[in-house]
Amino acid sequence: MMLLKKYPVVALVVLLAWLAPSIAVTADGPPDFMELIDADTVMAHVSALSVDIGARPMGSEAEAAAADYITAEFEAYGYEVEVQEFVTTPPWDEKEEVVSRNVIATLEGDDEVIVVGAHMDSVTSATGAGDNATGIAVILAVAEVLAEFDLAHTVVFVAFGAEESGDPPGADVYVESLGDEIENVIAMINIDSVGVGTDLNVYAGAVIEWADDEESASDIEGGEVWVRDLALDLADEMGLPFGTTPDDAWGGYTGDWSDHYAFVLEDVPIAYFEAWQWTDTENPWWGQETADGDVMHTEDDVIENVVPEKVEMAAELVVATTYVIAVGDGE
Ligand SMILES: [Zn+2]
Repeated sequence: MMLLKKYPVVALVVLLAWLAPSIAVTADGPPDFMELIDADTVMAHVSALSVDIGARPMGSEAEAAAADYITAEFEAYGYEVEVQEFVTTPPWDEKEEVVSRNVIATLEGDDEVIVVGAHMDSVTSATGAGDNATGIAVILAVAEVLAEFDLAHTVVFVAFGAEESGDPPGADVYVESLGDEIENVIAMINIDSVGVGTDLNVYAGAVIEWADDEESASDIEGGEVWVRDLALDLADEMGLPFGTTPDDAWGGYTGDWSDHYAFVLEDVPIAYFEAWQWTDTENPWWGQETADGDVMHTEDDVIENVVPEKVEMAAELVVATTYVIAVGDGE
């Protein structure tokens, strides 16, 4: 597991001083996020989405029910919620168009925006507990905690629809809807599948030009890494076991297969949180989810295979990272 330390020693000392006290909230430092996030809260969201609702394929009544649940939660925390409907084409059946939606909740600050997102839809083969009820559980837990704070920058939480190969996916629709305002987005944090895989990771974004054939090397152009490095430094200070992709494959970056990529293409610095295994794997570029192979997109993606502490730790690191950026201390 690799922890990148690119921050000056002074900054680390300051972070240590902030994070050391066990008081929940202090007047002159950040709160103790380890105290404010608990496993029961995040797992209640995972249960509501993957057990009570179940599989949430794009365009289904179940995906709409998930959007209703997420909307009700955001509203209970005091947010104004916007539901952005769009038409998309799923990769299955007769390729008939369906209606999906993004659920958007905003914590108002100044013009600079941090987007914290996760997809709510799932494939049909299981209940989408790990992929991605865990990611939605994280953004809901983070939204609940941050609602109590006055932050310098604006934080926008987005539950995306139609991530699982929708054409277009919700993230593309959201980014397009911003128009020129995408320039105000200083960071995007994506949470996709943080409850099942062997190791917790944070990646930076890269633009990928896939090779035409499997023999040739693909082209990877890495974007800005400061959001990833801030998260990894905070993980180190908080004692949370997060790594990133190994040097012999991806080198701290990730590919184009989730909601972050619409932002990467607009040069927005991103951090992508995922539980995955990158060591002792057959293909170092693909990795695998667990020692026994992948759970996502199989019938084993059920709540019994979600590790509550992993989702809790992901939420703790996402809330700390978002907070530090939103108060203006991230860059
Ligand atoms: Zn996913």
